[in-house]
Amino acid sequence: MRRLFTLLSALSLLLCAAVAVLWVRSYQRFDLIDHATVEPQRYQVDVGFGAFTLQRVRRVGLGSARGRVCFSRYSEYGDSRRIRTEWPGGGWSYSTERLDPDQIVAPGPDVAVGVEWDVLGFGRRHYTWTSAFGTSTGFTYTLDETSLPHWLLCLFTALPPAIACARFARGRRRRRRSRRGLCRACGYDLRATPGRCPECGTAAAAQKA
Ligand SMILES: [Zn+2]
Repeated sequence: MRRLFTLLSALSLLLCAAVAVLWVRSYQRFDLIDHATVEPQRYQVDVGFGAFTLQRVRRVGLGSARGRVCFSRYSEYGDSRRIRTEWPGGGWSYSTERLDPDQIVAPGPDVAVGVEWDVLGFGRRHYTWTSAFGTSTGFTYTLDETSLPHWLLCLFTALPPAIACARFARGRRRRRRSRRGLCRACGYDLRATPGRCPECGTAAAAQKA
C-alpha cells in the first residue's frame, strides 16, 4: 500500500512537471489534440460563383493556451474536399500554432454568444454561429468550451508527492529520536523514564513501533 502510494506520487510528480512545461509553453503556443467524427451526409451549396459540397464534422478537443487547459466540443460544416484531406474518415490529430499576442478574437455580429466568462483561468464559452452561402443559409457552427488553469492541475499533481515527502521526513525524524533515546512523538528525553513519556504520554510500546 505504502509502496503503491510512493509509485503513484512519483508518477504524479512527473505529471506535475509536464503540466508546468505546458503551462510555460502555453503563453507562446496553442497546442491541440482533437478527435473528429465526419458525418456521411453531404450538402450542395451554391455560393453564386460556383457550387461546392459541405459536410459536417464534430470534434472533441483538449487544448492548452494562455495559461489554460480547455476541453472543447465543436460542430462545424466544412468543404468536403478539405475534410477528406484533413480527416480522412475522421480520427485523431494534433496541431500546434504560434499565438499572436495582438490577436483578439472578437465574436462577429452574426455570432450568438450563449455563455462567455473567465475568472482566474476558470472559464466557459458557448458560441453558435450560422453561416450563409448565397441563397442557402442555416449551416451552424457551435463551440462549447470549458477551461481550467494550469496552476490548478499543477497544485493537484503536486499534492501526492508533497504528502509522500512529509511522511518520509516525519518517519526519519522519529527513527532518529528513538535512536537517541528520545520520545518519538515529542522529542522529550526518555532515559530517566523508559516506560512512558512524561511530556506527552506516549507509551514505551509505541516508542518501538
Ligand atoms: Zn513524548
